[in-house]
Amino acid sequence: NKLCPEIPKVELHAHLNGSLSRATMLQLKRYYADVGITDTSDAFLDEFQIGAGDTRNLSDCFQVFNIAHRLTRTPEALAMATTLTLKEFQEDGCCYIELRSTPRETPFMTCRQYIETIAEAMRNNAHLPIKSRLIVSINRTSSIKEAESIAELAISFHKQYPDIIVGIELSGDPNVGRFEDFIPALTSARFAGLKVTLHCGEVCNPQEVMEMIQFKPDRIGHGVCIHPDFGGTEETWQALCKSQIPVEICLTSNINTKSTPDYNSHHFKEFYKANVPVIICTDDKGVFSTSLSQEYRICADVFDLQPAQLAKLALNAVDHIFAEEERKAIKEKILNFINKNSL
Ligand code: IMP
Repeated sequence: NKLCPEIPKVELHAHLNGSLSRATMLQLKRYYADVGITDTSDAFLDEFQIGAGDTRNLSDCFQVFNIAHRLTRTPEALAMATTLTLKEFQEDGCCYIELRSTPRETPFMTCRQYIETIAEAMRNNAHLPIKSRLIVSINRTSSIKEAESIAELAISFHKQYPDIIVGIELSGDPNVGRFEDFIPALTSARFAGLKVTLHCGEVCNPQEVMEMIQFKPDRIGHGVCIHPDFGGTEETWQALCKSQIPVEICLTSNINTKSTPDYNSHHFKEFYKANVPVIICTDDKGVFSTSLSQEYRICADVFDLQPAQLAKLALNAVDHIFAEEERKAIKEKILNFINKNSL
């Protein structure tokens, strides 16, 4: 397990504003002080983290993102947040990341500028060993009209930044909104060449899980309530197994938001056993005080995976990255690591 930071890993489920570390947030606060914009107090930063014993319910947990959002209000701060986050993932041994973020209009920028700022920051960091791409998020609490305008933006930026913007996704409070309302927006993005990933089964809703699987997304996130032992049904579980849709697994996130009672009873075990493709991810490393290598380590400790199996998890994840042109080089990197360590 000491190898976890060294395994070249891929991160496919990380929300930008949820990934801000305390160090990054403090740096952003300094920036606001320097440019003379009033900002949140340190006490707010303490409320950003959600630990295992947190008493807030899932819907309350979504309020913490407002704290990060206050710190990414200007294009300069957003670019800084993107760069610092990419570097933190790189330091943790991540060689490829698909960051996702919800375009937000602020007093300092439009939604268009929001996406452009992250895309430019990624382009400016293209020389780093870590390769990065952007997935544009649609929040399921938004209106159909808002979702359609985000999809249109994603499509137009996909044309302008084909090397950066690779996908679209649906996230936000799973207790709010209906997946079916977002199908037209997601379908138009898919027709334009964007890949699709959906937060699926974060709460018990077998009907919506079925609708999502039938939509055939390229990946799904979480997948907590799909297996019958975890709030799904035999039908949702069989549909997932048959579809072979890869699942972005976020262990600590599920425990800390109480979607799952503890690591030992996490659905990862069932998915791994049934050969459902799984990808270990962090979700919101800042909020949950975790890292990608820590998620690999937890996986190894709890499910008794050996280093060779962990490296295989990283290697298999490469088949599901949206930037197909990067797959070969990343696979080579991981295979070199496997050979060098005789795994
Ligand atoms: P942002 O999109 O960069 O602003 O990242 C924060 C946003 O990601 C939140 O406001 C949510 O909409 C979304 N998000 C973060 N974590 C989760 C999760 O566990 N489930 C669903 N949505 C999430």
